[in-house]
Amino acid sequence: MNLESPLTVLKGVGEKRAKLYQKLGINNIGELLEHYPRGYLDLTGSLSIKEASDEHPCAIKAVVTQKSATRPIRRGLTVTKVRATDMESDILITFWNAKYTVDALEIGKEYIFYGDFSRRFTGGEMNSPTVISTEERGFLPQYPLTEGLSSKMVSAQMKEAIKNCGSFIRETLCGSVLKKYDLCSKEEAIRGIHFPSCSNELERAKKRLIFEEFLAFTLGMSLTKGRERLAEGNAFLNLSTEKFEESLGFELTGAQKRVIAECKKDMCSSVPMSRLIQGDVGSGKTAIAAACMYFAAKNGFQSAMMAPTEVLASQHKATLEKMFAPFGIKVGILTGSMKASEKNAVKEAIKSGEITIVTGTHALIQEDVEFWNLGLIITDEQHRFGVRQRMALGKKGKAPHTIVMSATPIPRTLAFVLYGDLDISILDEMPKNRIPVKTYLVEPELSQRALNFVRNFAKEGKQSYIVCPLIERNEDSLPLEAAADLAEQIAGQELCDCNVGLLHGKMKPAEKERVMQAFAENRLQVLVSTTVIEVGVDVPNAVCMVIENAERFGLSQLHQLRGRVGRGKEQSYCILISGKKNPETKRRLEVIAKTTDGFKVAEEDLKLRGPGDFFGYRQSGLPMLKMADMMTDISLLETAKKAAAEILSDDPKLEKAENAALAKNIRKLLEEAAI
Ligand code: ADP
Ligand code: MG
Repeated sequence: MNLESPLTVLKGVGEKRAKLYQKLGINNIGELLEHYPRGYLDLTGSLSIKEASDEHPCAIKAVVTQKSATRPIRRGLTVTKVRATDMESDILITFWNAKYTVDALEIGKEYIFYGDFSRRFTGGEMNSPTVISTEERGFLPQYPLTEGLSSKMVSAQMKEAIKNCGSFIRETLCGSVLKKYDLCSKEEAIRGIHFPSCSNELERAKKRLIFEEFLAFTLGMSLTKGRERLAEGNAFLNLSTEKFEESLGFELTGAQKRVIAECKKDMCSSVPMSRLIQGDVGSGKTAIAAACMYFAAKNGFQSAMMAPTEVLASQHKATLEKMFAPFGIKVGILTGSMKASEKNAVKEAIKSGEITIVTGTHALIQEDVEFWNLGLIITDEQHRFGVRQRMALGKKGKAPHTIVMSATPIPRTLAFVLYGDLDISILDEMPKNRIPVKTYLVEPELSQRALNFVRNFAKEGKQSYIVCPLIERNEDSLPLEAAADLAEQIAGQELCDCNVGLLHGKMKPAEKERVMQAFAENRLQVLVSTTVIEVGVDVPNAVCMVIENAERFGLSQLHQLRGRVGRGKEQSYCILISGKKNPETKRRLEVIAKTTDGFKVAEEDLKLRGPGDFFGYRQSGLPMLKMADMMTDISLLETAKKAAAEILSDDPKLEKAENAALAKNIRKLLEEAAI
């Protein structure tokens, strides 16, 4: 067995399981070793009920004394109660939808239960904890998974892989860097990240791996930036955009004017613009994008505006069409769900230059879309896109100017990781007519009242959103209100006199479109949804948002969600429902209730959760960095930047033998990102 061997050499991996690993991008042993845990179950502390903490998840070792029958609560939800004791105190454990897990528990046998713990007078309670064999010790790695794989399986296979191939792991950093920055070897790091024997070893492993990623990333950015600067772009003429700005129907804010000026200045240079515009929800980024596209159009160039969802793309199309109609500038749309014939017609019109401005989803970056004369590319709500997609679109024109717009205020250091290659404009002023959204944090007992609130609004002809975190329940999680169930339930009961619609990620695009359209036209008064509404949707008549299980969302994500209301002239409300008693969780949610300033929210979010979880969505968080999800120490980035500068000053093109392994990794990184 070596690093290139297929996974089928491992015990317990046949063709079928190898396919599952393939889904995670793992094809051989070497790639398996680089599949890092996303977290650990920490079994190193005390395992007694008396000392259990109710502030963070903990492990409790206890003997099962009693099991209730598994009872259905309602469709798709069952509950089983289990009692256990550590001979000193008792715990009552509630399992949701976990018949299989509970059946496997034997009365009289001892287990480790891992999860959130609430202290009660006589002992405590746990909710659907993970059940672990008492033979386990230390830190149990929890891996990013796909359906059909469990952390236990991956962990067993990882053990075997490390045992047989650990010694083949090659060092990738030169000795002097390892020494200067006090880093452990790659082999030690890989062993330590999967199966750390103590927290110190885990920290050293993380430090080494994160450092290496940052270093490769920083070097990669430096090398590309140098290359991009060479690209010859289109220098636009500094034509006036005043007429367009005056036609918008509102006075641009000072910040909007400043940012438009910054963009125009960039576009008048033959060095292609690469600019990030950061502005809170509702700060008016669309108007800036439109002014820039008008500027490009006046200069005789086409613009493309890419949005992460079809809903948003069509909304942009409608907005832009209205804005540009008076100027005779044609706006088109291209999305994946369009009929082939429609698509072809639009593609023809893009190629011939008949359409000047085109919006769309990532269908826009597909190979066969040709532009007549693309001069400006705008990607909206950028954190949903990977660097790869950003780069792919950039290849469509002759070094077109690019603008990236993000509604998540990002602290500077993080902005570098995500957008190291971009200049940054900050939109720090809201249009004057805004009334801040009133936000309340309430216990689940009050959700009836929240629904009454929604019903009263509906009676007045105003609309509401109800947001639920997940569309599916999985065995391991708490009984979250799944959107579909909830929609059905409240449509039949609490809100039977309103029109309730449902929107979730698994629906077909056309279906989503239909629902969104119905909501936009006020044919639906209530929209129950998962987070698909989060990005950019603009329905000014929606004045109320109820968020179920609010603790499941990141602060920045909640802030984004809340940005869907408070867009009109009416006072708007956001009701966060959370039953979590944990003080840390409470504190987090109170931040949202107290402030409507996105930058403040972002800072708090970063402080409380660390940058890895900052965006709330793992898969699209930090595009090229695997380890960054677990990163808690941003200062390491500064150190890596310093090391990168030192390496480059000594070896500007990374040609020396000692940097060969690093150079190879950077090439791979850049290739993956299609830079
Ligand atoms: P976001 O920055 O979240 O993308 P939008 O561009 O969607 O915000 O703008 C939100 C709303 O504010 C839109 O309805 C838009 O027409 C309006 N708007 C934008 N700029 C101004 C302004 N300067 N004054 C008043 N309203 C504005
Ligand atoms: Mg927007």
